[in-house]
Parts: sequence; C-alpha cells; structure tokens
Amino acid sequence: MYSGLSVEQENALRSRLACYPGLTLKNLVCLFDYDLTMAKKKNPKDFDDAPLERGQHGFFADFSRKVGGVIVQTARGEASTEDYLKQSDHVEEFGSLENVFLASNSGHLWRGNIAENVESTFITIPGYEDDAEKLDQVIDGIHSVLDDIKAMTDARPELYPLLKVDKREKCGAVIFQIDGEEESALVKSFFEQTNTLIAQLPKDIAACVTQASKKTPVMLADGRVQTQGYIDFKPQGMDKGYTTRKILTEFYPLDRKDVLIVAGDSNSDYPMMKIANELVKQGKIRGAICIDVGGQIDDKHHVIDFVLDPDGVDKKERQHDAIDRFYGLLSATRDILPYPVRKDPNYQYRISYVPRA
Ligand SMILES: [Mg+2]
Repeated sequence: MYSGLSVEQENALRSRLACYPGLTLKNLVCLFDYDLTMAKKKNPKDFDDAPLERGQHGFFADFSRKVGGVIVQTARGEASTEDYLKQSDHVEEFGSLENVFLASNSGHLWRGNIAENVESTFITIPGYEDDAEKLDQVIDGIHSVLDDIKAMTDARPELYPLLKVDKREKCGAVIFQIDGEEESALVKSFFEQTNTLIAQLPKDIAACVTQASKKTPVMLADGRVQTQGYIDFKPQGMDKGYTTRKILTEFYPLDRKDVLIVAGDSNSDYPMMKIANELVKQGKIRGAICIDVGGQIDDKHHVIDFVLDPDGVDKKERQHDAIDRFYGLLSATRDILPYPVRKDPNYQYRISYVPRA
C-alpha cells in the first residue's frame, strides 16, 4: 500500500545507509514524531484524530520487532497516543506493537515500552527543577484557561462547530474549527479572548505559559470556509530537544554502534534532529539519519538527509502523500539492511524526493 521508491530514491537510501558499513537492523533506533509523521489526520469531523491506519499498524508490528526500538516522541497526551498505538482491531489482526516506547507531552512524560505495564516518569522542565509547586501552579493555570475556553464556546455552539479541549498531564491544547476565514472577526476574537484568559491568571503564572498555534482555512463541500487549527499551551521551557537528550542518554541509552533515524514534520521536531547530530559528534552514537516528512522544516543547521516533499499535489494531500513515502522509505530500509552495506563514493548528502513517473 505504500508508495515504492523509485530506483533513484532507493539508490539514495542505499548510499546513505552505506555510510555505516556492517549496520544491522538491531542497531537502528527510531525516534519519530507522531502526528503527520507516523499518522495522518483525515477525519473531517475531528481533525485532531490521528489513529494509525490498518496498514501502518501492520507495518510497525513487523518493523518495530526487527529494529533496536521505536521511540514515539509527541506533543500529544499519553492516553490518546497509546489508544492509537493499541487499537484492538489492528492488534487482533497483526499483533501488538513490540519494542515501541512512548514519550508524550513533548517527551516530558516517559512511558517507556508500551507493551509493559509500568508507570510513567516525568522528565522535569528546565527552570522548575527545584520548584515543583510552581510547575503545578502553571499546569493548573493552563488547565483552568482550557476550562474557561470550553465554557465560553459551549455557550455558543453555533459559532464553534468543533472545539476540543485536550488537557494533557503537563500541558494542554485546544483544537478548533470555526466558521470563516483565518482573519475573520470570529477567529480573531477567539484568539483575543484566549489571550485575555491567560492574562487573567496571576502575573507570575501567566508569564510562564507559552502558546503555539496553527490555523488553516478549509473549504467545506457546501462552499463555506472554515478555519481549523489548534493552540498548544505549555509551561515555558517545555521542549522536545531537551527531552530528546534526556531520553537518549538516561531513559533509552544508546549504544555507540547505534544509528538513529529521526523523523518529524514540523519545526517543533527539529530540536530532536539537532540533538541526534550532537550525540554523533560527541561519539555517543554512530550516526543520525534525519527525515523531514512533508518538507516544512526549516533546516537551519543542515542536518536533514531526506526531504519527503513531492511536488504537484495540493498542500493538504501533499502532507499525506509524504507520510506514505515515509513508510515506503522505512520498508525499503528494512529490506536493504539485512545485507551488508558497502561504502559508496557517490554518496550525496541531501536528497529531495521527486515525483515518480
Ligand atoms: Mg507532527
């Protein structure tokens, strides 16, 4: 079901893997973002919904057993991600995902192997190491803002056809769908009211809440335009790069022979790739192969090896197409690696996908 690679793309992948002669699948460790990297968002009624598809689960059921491990590092909450990784109909058909480790809440909540029933460990957020009480207050503040947003929008359901409040253990998000263009009065006022609610928190708490938002206009079948998006609320200092370093050195210590494959779709995933490259420079791991799923990451430090960015498809579909190609690339890796790879003098550093003929 996944787009196979063109001969050119497969050669590029072989060349990249050939940088590590003798590499085996067991020495390959994966560090992947979840939403729009491993999973698509194709549910028009709830665009936060990103379950693994049948074939994706089937692929990982096999792949994750063969590699050293697959670490899923996501901004999502633990429960929702785990639900997607353990959907009962898929588990029944393909078996459960073995060797898959979950780091939710931007990596701050380390769940470890999802097949084992162990309690999650919290990785402290820089700045709150000695002040757990302050962090609790900030998280309570975020949760209370989310409650207020819910109350505000519940009172006018006709204006907010979809609004989902996602209270995560250490952060939170609101996912919305509002009638009108991105710059419409309604969308603007929604954002203004959200800012006001944060400003109403005690000053020292409000100062510790950071927001990141995304909004995109979507044309409905009847021709109306809606703005869909989310606002993430996080305690200041919460960061995927910080947790990547902690995870890979303390919670999932890597071997010097390991090669890490890091994949993500947005700039918030970029710190994972940067840290992976730093670990290579420090001699802690053998290598890092970084993949941009969708071509949206700003590669300031030139660490990305593969940009899955097929042209000629509209922006939304392109993202989903890129995810298929990501699975194509992983399955090709699985097929190539049992055989010894040789060093290739023609190795090219950066390869973009071109549309297949
Ligand atoms: Mg993502």
